[in-house]
Amino acid sequence: MTAKTGHCLCGAVGFTAEVVESSHHACHCGMCRRWTGGPFLTTTARGVVFDGTENLVRYASSTWAERGFCRICGSTLFYFLLPTGTHMLSVGAFDDPTPFRLTEEIFIDHKPDGYAFAGDHPRLTEAQTLAKYAPG
Ligand SMILES: [Zn+2]
Ligand SMILES: [Zn+2]
Repeated sequence: MTAKTGHCLCGAVGFTAEVVESSHHACHCGMCRRWTGGPFLTTTARGVVFDGTENLVRYASSTWAERGFCRICGSTLFYFLLPTGTHMLSVGAFDDPTPFRLTEEIFIDHKPDGYAFAGDHPRLTEAQTLAKYAPG
């Protein structure tokens, strides 16, 4: 998938991504759930350029990552992995959501029992998630 665009709820912050993976994951970790109100659906993107950066806030949620959101409307826009410079963009912020498919869930052992995604795809525990994705 190439050259995809998206924006926050109020439109003050927009983005264009050169390369976007159509398969995305859902993170059930406590930080993502608190930040977004539920599981955080993100896809890996490269060549990301933002418009309206004066309204883009980057919150350092850990020593290795930042979470980006709009200062005006509060929309969650991305998780940014500092060691690799990788943007994980919020699937919900894209203008066209139709190409995206949920292909993996992470931190499944942190998911509350009250909801569950359907489908036959990998569901990684915290230990499995860290083994696969932890930087360094
Ligand atoms: Zn906004
Ligand atoms: Zn998370």
